[in-house]
Amino acid sequence: KLVITQDVTERQRADAMRRDFVANVSHEIRTPLTVLAGFVETMASLPLSGAERSRVLHLMQQQTDRMQSLVGDLLTLAQLEGSPRPSTDRWLPLQPLLERVLVDAVSLSAGRHQITLEASAGIELAGLEPELLSAVANLATNAVRYTPDGGFIKIGWLARPDGGGEVFVQDTGIGIPREHLPRLAERFYRVDGSRSRDTGGTGLGLSIVKHVVQRHGGSLEIESQPGQGSRFRLLLPAGRVRLAEEAAVNATA
Ligand code: ADP
Repeated sequence: KLVITQDVTERQRADAMRRDFVANVSHEIRTPLTVLAGFVETMASLPLSGAERSRVLHLMQQQTDRMQSLVGDLLTLAQLEGSPRPSTDRWLPLQPLLERVLVDAVSLSAGRHQITLEASAGIELAGLEPELLSAVANLATNAVRYTPDGGFIKIGWLARPDGGGEVFVQDTGIGIPREHLPRLAERFYRVDGSRSRDTGGTGLGLSIVKHVVQRHGGSLEIESQPGQGSRFRLLLPAGRVRLAEEAAVNATA
């Protein structure tokens, strides 16, 4: 007789995660859809004045924007999961990338925060520019969204002795209670659901950031104190960091 045993715990866990994910997506899409359906009915059945019409249209627009961000983030995640690791021989300068993030953050903040960039001149990273840009931009956007007016935000680069380094985004915002930190980068995990939705959040931002940095051989580290602020760090390994001068020397050697 032959007895075959198989450990199905892992498979069951994956099935449960998939079910949760589908339930979450459906819920996230259904909410704005229900609101939108209500407005369509209002417009179809009630004679509205010009002012009322434009108010309703504005609210409808908000809901379609919300669905669009959600679907956009879902597609980004699917794409990240389905594509190979970024190669280690395509180098891009870090400074212009951080400058682009800064410009977008300043525009989103609209003068409500003091945002500074610490220079990272000469640093080059091996990776995919659109992915790294979207990861850092996500962190900067969150810093703006979760920092009350008058707060400070700092974006920058810190080299590590082992040759690696980190891109960091630091704020003096509302912070995150310790018990939430381990789950923060899970899909749809939010500390305060209504605040996240009010500021246009999908709850997918940090899972995208984590995916991107892991694909680049690194990790996402989060430190935070409620009421004091947060520091998000994208740790990158030595193999994906170099100084532009080193590259020039190597090229001429
Ligand atoms: P969301 O779209 O909800 O912002 P994210 O995945 O980007 O989704 O972030 C997950 C949660 O982490 C947020 O809902 C928020 O509660 C918390 N969070 C993210 N960034 C910050 C920050 N800089 N300060 C305080 N809380 C933050």
